[in-house]
Formats: sequence, structure tokens, C-alpha cells
Amino acid sequence: MNDNIVAKGIVQDESLLWEKGKKGKEGFSVPKNDVGSFEVDSDLLGEGPDFPDLSEVEVVRHYTRLSQWNFGLDTGMYPLGSCTMKYNPKTNERQASLPGFAGSHPLLAEELSQGALELIYNLEQHLCEVTGMDAISLQPAAGAHGELAGMLIFHAYHQKKGAQRNKILIPDTAHGTNPASAALCGYKSIPVPSNEDGILDPKTVAELMDEDTAGIMITNPNTLGLFEDNILEINKIVHDKGGLVYADGANMNAVMGIVQMGKIGVDVMHLNLHKTFSTPHGGGGPGSGPVCVTKELEKFLPVPRVEKQGDKFILVDNRPDSIGKLHAFYGNFSILIRAYSYILTMGKDLKKVSQYAVLSANYIKEKLRGDFHIPYDRPCMHECIVNDKLQEENHVSTLDIAKRLMDYGFHPPTIYFPLVVSGAMMIEPTETESKEDIDKLIEVLKIIAKESKENPDMLKESPKFCRMRRLDETTAARKPCLTG
Ligand SMILES: *Cc1c(COP(=O)(O)O)cnc(C)c1O
Repeated sequence: MNDNIVAKGIVQDESLLWEKGKKGKEGFSVPKNDVGSFEVDSDLLGEGPDFPDLSEVEVVRHYTRLSQWNFGLDTGMYPLGSCTMKYNPKTNERQASLPGFAGSHPLLAEELSQGALELIYNLEQHLCEVTGMDAISLQPAAGAHGELAGMLIFHAYHQKKGAQRNKILIPDTAHGTNPASAALCGYKSIPVPSNEDGILDPKTVAELMDEDTAGIMITNPNTLGLFEDNILEINKIVHDKGGLVYADGANMNAVMGIVQMGKIGVDVMHLNLHKTFSTPHGGGGPGSGPVCVTKELEKFLPVPRVEKQGDKFILVDNRPDSIGKLHAFYGNFSILIRAYSYILTMGKDLKKVSQYAVLSANYIKEKLRGDFHIPYDRPCMHECIVNDKLQEENHVSTLDIAKRLMDYGFHPPTIYFPLVVSGAMMIEPTETESKEDIDKLIEVLKIIAKESKENPDMLKESPKFCRMRRLDETTAARKPCLTG
């Protein structure tokens, strides 16, 4: 029997459109030409793009198949740490597609955009309440964009005080975008090592903080999924030297209704609406990364600001200390609608969101004890980290485990990040997964731990049951094929 022939049902292999196309095929029909033809100077037209010729049915099948291969939250669990891949209630999509919102033009006059402006205004108020911060701009289009806004605010603040500073403290447990955003503003990042518990030690911060340092950027909870217990002391050290505290609040889903960032001495922070506040994300956007500040820093927020005058909402541009405009119009408005709808429908249950997110991550960590090594063994927040230390003796690595998970139908967690843990697997179940599904993930991970001992060679060959086997990632990175 031919080894290539295996009965496994319909396999919809899909070639590239360039391979399928054949000169002369058409996906459209136009009326017969009844006006004669004219010679067109081909120099004027140029060569034209090299698009394949295809029929309509071929194009429809091609894209439908590709969409069926897509793995997403609507098809399965996606425990990708740091990314908060949680299920997004469909009602939020529905509100975002209401014709009054979806069809509104950003150039419409203010008096014709009152509903949209009111939504922006109200969402800012709600987010102030959730974070404990005083003022917010919804303009930044991503978490990293919010960080950039925050760093520009740091810069404007020190400028206004008359003494510019050139460094920023960044813990080794910060998200990778933090040093990049600081560098974009011309700041030199000074790495701050975390202690053996995976959090910041006030003594280390005190040694590094000086009057040339603009402040600190703390990811809290940090990328080890741990809450920075010493945050009050650290914030005081930074403030005493005239610096500002930036909190990367992309992981606010761990602390909503529990920690008021404004009350613990944070001066600036950003949120990721496309993580915590329910918006589908991945594949590059769109997103929204509101930047939140204290009263003292409000004057630096991007323009325009939405303000309320009597019962009217107006856009205000004339703010001389503002860092300026960061995005066309008012940011990615459709994401704001989803977040608004999410907050209104959740109400006080936002606190439960965080409680369930934290509970699920701790449950996974405890259940995996013994099967996987836990590098920082203490209660975690919304994500837990294990690594491949126990599998090392069988030469099974985190990559093998992640690939094998795909055979069992799970999207792998984030791997090899954060860098402070060798072979890290960063598992973020989120609050939207049921106990049954979380138990299934745990069971599968336990099976893989057993397979690592009994059949390590098989793991090296995984995934076995996916459409693609293990890819040559080095060649893909070194010689990317961008044209098909
Ligand atoms: C996701 C994330 C970011 C970056 O957000 P983007 O929207 O991808 O730019 C920053 N910090 C942390 C902690 C994150 O998890």
C-alpha cells in the first residue's frame, strides 16, 4: 500500500493562488463591449501587478479554507501568557456594528457626533474608576503606543520642571515593549534585576535611582505573573528623587476592583482595551491602549480632549502643555465601543473577572506541581509559569512540549518568555475558560509529561496530527518567502 495514502477524512490541502491560477480564467462577467476598442499607450499603463487569473468559486473556496484553518478563541482555548486571549462576548461586537456608530464619519461636526463623544467621555470616567487614576486619553492605538504616550508625558513633565533627565529604570521582568518605548523617547534603559522571589527589591531600586533618572516603568503584575509586593516602597523611593512611576497596566485583568493604581503612587499607566476589556486581537490590530494619569499630569495628555459643557460634549484642542496628537481623530473608536459595552454589561462583576482569572492560573500551577518545575513557587496572578527543567534529563524541551500540545488540539502557551526563566511556559487561562476545559489542558500537559519520560523521541517529531509538521523555523526566519 502506498504510504502516502492514509484514510483520515477530507484533507483540504490548499495551494497558493499563484499555483492555482491559469491564464484566461475569470472571476467576473461584464457586458459585451458595444463601444469598440481603442489602442492604449502601453507605456502609460505599465506592467500591472502579477495577479493570478482565477474563477470566482476558486477564490471563495481558497479563502473559506484558509479561514477554517484559523485557530482562534471562537474555536478553542488559547492560553497564550501575557496576551490575555479571552473570549469576547458577541454582544460587544453587536454594539460596535450599530449603524449609528459604525457609519459615523469622524469629520462630522461635533453637534452631529454627540453620541460618540458622550461614549468617549463616559468610557474615560469608567476607566478612571476601574484604575483609580484621575484622567485618561483613549487615543493610543495599542499597549506600546500607550507606553510611548506615557514616556512623552514623562519627558514633558521633566521639561516643564526645567531639568530633563536621560535614564529610565526598567525591571528585567518588564514587558519587552517597555524599553523600546523608552528608547523611542531618547531615554536610556537601566535594567533592574528582580530578586529570588521574582519581584523588585526596594534596595536595588534605591541604588539605581538618581536625579538623572526620569522614573521607573513597572509591569505590574510583572511578566512572571507576580504582583510587585514592594510597590509602595519603590514608588516612594522614585518620587523622593523627583522621578515618576509608570505602570504597565496591560495586565489589569488580574487586579480590577482589587488594586487602585492611582492610590498606590502610580503617576502614569496604560491599559490594553484589546486584552482586559474584551476586544478580539491578534494578527496586528486594531487595538487600543489608553494612557491614564494623575491630576497633576492631566495637562500633558494628547489632544483633542473630550469635555462636557452643560449637557454638550465638545472637543478641546487648545491645551498648550499637551504632548500633541498621537493618532488620527480619537483613536480606534470601534474598540472603544466594545470596551464600553463590556464595562456596562459586566458592572461590578469586573472584580470577579480578576478573581476568576487569578484563581484559574493558580489552579493550573498547583495541578501541574510534580509534573513540571515551578521556578517561582508562590501564588501567582492571572498567569503561571512552569518550565522544562524536569524534562531536561530526557532531552525534551519546552518547544517539544508546545508542539505536542497542538496534537491534542490546544494552542500552546507563550514559550521562552519571560527571558529570566530558562525554557519558560507562560500559561494564561483567563477567566472565560470553564473548569472542564482547564482540566482538559491540565490532563493533556500531564500526559505530555509522561510521554516525555516514556517516548521522548516521539515528542521531537510532534506535531504529528496537524496539517503542517514541525516547521524549519530557522530557515523561515533567515530566508522568509514573502511573495508566495
Ligand atoms: C501586550 C502587552 C504590551 C503591549 O501591548 P500591544 O498592544 O501589543 O502593543 C505591553 N505590556 C504588557 C505587559 C503586555 O502584556
